[in-house]
Amino acid sequence: MLADAYDFLLKLLLVGDSGTGKSCLLHHFLENQFKKDSVNTIGMEFGTRIVHIADKSIKLQIWDTAGQERFRSLTRSYFRGAAGALIVYDICNRETFLGVHSWLSDVRSLANPELVIILVGNKSDLAEEREVSYLEASRFAQEHEMMFLEASALTGDAVEEMFFKCARSILSKIEIGHI
Ligand code: GDP
Ligand code: MG
Repeated sequence: MLADAYDFLLKLLLVGDSGTGKSCLLHHFLENQFKKDSVNTIGMEFGTRIVHIADKSIKLQIWDTAGQERFRSLTRSYFRGAAGALIVYDICNRETFLGVHSWLSDVRSLANPELVIILVGNKSDLAEEREVSYLEASRFAQEHEMMFLEASALTGDAVEEMFFKCARSILSKIEIGHI
């Protein structure tokens, strides 16, 4: 079998305010390590990793913003063809949680309406500096029909899970014919 053979290619998007840890989460998932200085990810468009779910090989193509989120200038092509989106906020920065509203409306208006959306509260390792409770965020996610989890790009906690959860949910939609 070819090293690069796969059954599905899924495009996933990382969105959320700048500084929430999107690039570190992606880097951790792709290279399994925490990257303190992510400045040089500027210019990076996406990273890929093949994962195995059930008996399928799934190629995840994960798109990261390269600073455009600061100006809210993501183009339609960023959203085109996406099967899933992970909206990231920082649990220690309430403003980034409030920012989730507008990311959600961008995702809902610019992407496929069947898109799977996961809300990710990052920096769970800094729980003592927390400004957004788990309960508040999980209620918000439920009200807006998103899945929810907290993760840490520093410790790696739930980083694999956030991408696998997204992929599994997309696959189950594909199997029941919704995509
Ligand atoms: P982006 O702008 O959303 O891509 O955010 P970055 O990935 O560049 O991260 C912004 C800052 O948060 C950097 O200084 C990272 O070192 C830090 N950071 C990212 N994830 C975590 C985390 O899970 N825990 C802690 N403590 N710091 C993090
Ligand atoms: Mg970044």
